[in-house]
Amino acid sequence: MKVTEHIAKAKDTLFSFEILPPLKGNTIDSICETMDVLMDFNPAFVDVTYHREEFVYQDQGDGLLRKKITRKRPGTVGICAALGAKYKIDTIPHIICGGFTAEETEDALIDLQFLGIDNVLALRGDPIKSQPDFRAEPGGHGYASELVKQIDKMNHGIYLDPELKNTEKTNFCIGVAGYPEKHFEAPNLNTDLLYLKQKVDAGADYIVTQMFFDNQAFFDFKDKCIQAGINVPIIPGIKPLVNKKQLVGIPKHFFINLPDALVDAVMKAKDDKEVKNIGIEWCIEQCKALKAAKVPVLHFYTMGKSADTARIAKEVW
Ligand code: FAD
Repeated sequence: MKVTEHIAKAKDTLFSFEILPPLKGNTIDSICETMDVLMDFNPAFVDVTYHREEFVYQDQGDGLLRKKITRKRPGTVGICAALGAKYKIDTIPHIICGGFTAEETEDALIDLQFLGIDNVLALRGDPIKSQPDFRAEPGGHGYASELVKQIDKMNHGIYLDPELKNTEKTNFCIGVAGYPEKHFEAPNLNTDLLYLKQKVDAGADYIVTQMFFDNQAFFDFKDKCIQAGINVPIIPGIKPLVNKKQLVGIPKHFFINLPDALVDAVMKAKDDKEVKNIGIEWCIEQCKALKAAKVPVLHFYTMGKSADTARIAKEVW
């Protein structure tokens, strides 16, 4: 079932979460352990992230460098299919522009259609470490809105090859990312919202937000979206802060602010056990207020920490 259908049918705020494929060389067991714990809370759907390749340059000893491609977390589509079959749950693969030509994306979408997966989260992807900024693959997409356009065209039976006749329409429900505190490359929130609207106009059916720790940032973002004419469901992305290192790590990696009251409490904590309790309590309060405000779904970034998400879900539902 599509995310938008889950939302339309729901009488209360739904629960969903995101998982990362295991590091290469590991089994799917750790994912199933997370699933086993979180299935108790009746999730509407599960997102599986996509991690693009990185390049490393190895010295060959003769003055020449060899480009080696490494992919740390392969398996997004396989995990989606496996979890769908095992847990009878809707799984949402993340599809990114980075590293793919439009042809390769089309083939990946055809695979998903054959697997019966009819939800995707369409993203641009971050720049890879060896590049200073995001570079589209030649023949690929530079922005998520272009990817959304391609998927939407397939939903209308339009494939890349204009000579294809009598094509089947795909039936993807398309999610996109939104940033209550703006995307790090955007000059300001209004510009970012302009491009978010482009994604919705291109065919996106709903938005999932970057994490935030101050609900007011989400509520203000939602109001601004409505003013900008963005009328699709907006799903807040949620993550608890669970250790002191994250006071630096979260703003650094996700370009978001941490509220004074949370930072003060964490700074005063005597150890990470206390920090985790503070972070989880903060997150529970955030979730209760968002649920009271009737958000359609609370979507958790689990980062493989199912126990933390379960502790929060137990208090919220
Ligand atoms: P876009 O919507 O393309 O926006 C990127 C930037 O370009 C923004 O600053 C925007 O304002 C600007 N922009 C957009 N269109 C234009 C235009 N036409 N002209 C000029 N500027 C423009 N990354 C992964 O690699 N794998 C994942 O699985 C993954 N999952 C994610 C899930 C969620 C819910 C979120 C919020 C992020 C996720 N990311 C993931 C990270 C995401 O790929 C990065 O944040 C990336 O830098 C931007 O992706 P986007 O889809 O928001 O890009």
